[in-house]
This record gives sequence, structure tokens and C-alpha cells, in this order.
Amino acid sequence: MDDCIFCKIIKKELPADIVHEDEHTISFLSINPDNDGHTLVVPKEHHVDLITTPVSVLTQLMETCQKVAKGVMKGMEVEGYNLIQNNGAVAGQVIFHIHFHIIPRLSDDGFKHWKGIPYRDAAHSKEVAEKIQRSI
Ligand code: 5GP
Ligand code: ZN
Repeated sequence: MDDCIFCKIIKKELPADIVHEDEHTISFLSINPDNDGHTLVVPKEHHVDLITTPVSVLTQLMETCQKVAKGVMKGMEVEGYNLIQNNGAVAGQVIFHIHFHIIPRLSDDGFKHWKGIPYRDAAHSKEVAEKIQRSI
């Protein structure tokens, strides 16, 4: 993709702080980290999101996520991290070349998980589950 920032980083046409690279994937620091060490794990093939990426590419991506997550934990001396992958503009995806975020977490970083709200009753949750079941 000619206008894709991540493809340009892969081709070394744009700079990035690369932390790992192999035949199929590249991992580099986010330019706007949520915490120091916030790393993006990216396949070298251009695919947009989870649904449109071949399973073989996702497998390579996951192998690298596991390897890089270990490095992020050790290198940044943190005990946890969030592995996040945004799909669609409504979900906050800004770069439409699939990537996983590895975000190191600190006990005092102030980030809060979204607050869940229980279903109003069992009939409602059953109806929701069935909608998804029928669509898979
Ligand atoms: P998204 O919102 O698409 O899931 O995440 C996009 C990520 O790419 C964000 O972490 C953002 O800071 C990062 N990013 C956007 N442009 C650049 C860039 O030019 N270089 C690097 N290294 N990261 C970028
Ligand atoms: Zn791309």
C-alpha cells in the first residue's frame, strides 16, 4: 500500500525505533506511547484488520507478540502489559495496517479498564448471545 505509514516503515522509507524484526514481522515503538516501551507488532504483509488477515499471518504475528512481550516485560522491568488490537475507526483504529499494541503497565499509571454494566436480565443476555451464535 503506497500511502500506508507502516508499509513505509517496513520498507525503511520512514524511520522507527525498531526493537525486533524477522522475515514476517517487525516490531517498533509507538510514536505516541501510552507508557514508555509501548510497542507495535506488525506483519510485513499489508492487511487491514483481524478479519481480513489470513490465519497464517496471524500465527506469525502471535509468535512475535509472545517473543516481544517477554522482551518488553524484561527490558522495561514491568510485571504486566496489555495486548490490544483495534478494529475499525469506531474502535480507535487509526492505522489501517493490522498491528498489536504491547503496552507495559505500571501499578500507578492511572489507566482504568472500561466499566462493565450487567445485562438487565438473563433473557436479554440469551437474546444477545443468540444473535452472535446465528452470525458465526
Ligand atoms: P491504532 O489506533 O491504529 O490501533 O494505533 C496506531 C498506533 O500507531 C498508535 O500507537 C500510534 O501512536 C502509532 N503511530 C502512528 N503513526 C506512527 C508513526 O509514524 N510511527 C510510529 N512509530 N508509530 C506511529
Ligand atoms: Zn501497510
